[in-house]
Amino acid sequence: MYIALKDLAIQPIVISEALEPGVVDLRSADFRQIGLLSVEAVASLVSEEVRIKGTLEVEIETACSRCLESMRVPVKKSFDLFYRSHKSVGPVERDEEIELKRPDLDVGFYVGAGLEFVDTLREQILIELPMKPICQTGCRGLCPHCGANRNTAPCSCAEEVFDPRWAGLSILKRS
Ligand SMILES: [Zn+2]
Ligand SMILES: [Zn+2]
Repeated sequence: MYIALKDLAIQPIVISEALEPGVVDLRSADFRQIGLLSVEAVASLVSEEVRIKGTLEVEIETACSRCLESMRVPVKKSFDLFYRSHKSVGPVERDEEIELKRPDLDVGFYVGAGLEFVDTLREQILIELPMKPICQTGCRGLCPHCGANRNTAPCSCAEEVFDPRWAGLSILKRS
């Protein structure tokens, strides 16, 4: 799904797709696409910037960061993105490109004759995924001693365990 500037110069490009898993390579072992990724978008040229406006919907499978059980994260979002030509940016600014690509800025760059829409989709999906996904509010996680999933199998390990976060305090007290 390459968006070529020469095509945009003639007319906006309408994208309406249902993509199988794998078309957008999430490049992450932690996240897996479940089912189709629906995307509706329009790419257009707005005063020398490429504007891509649309919506996407997909379900991503990942593991709960506490109990490690598999869980699904529904992603449904709209986006309105602008891409500037890399050439229009000075050499100093070019070094800042990576910082400028912060998700909250919604301004990216394209190099050469256009941009690959699949890259845009990957970015937009990854932005939405939590760093530490949690399967349910109050997931009790795994017991640090026996490894049991405390949501499903309450174990008999002692509730009172030494918390390493307080280690520094007890040293302080002694001095
Ligand atoms: Zn969990
Ligand atoms: Zn235990």
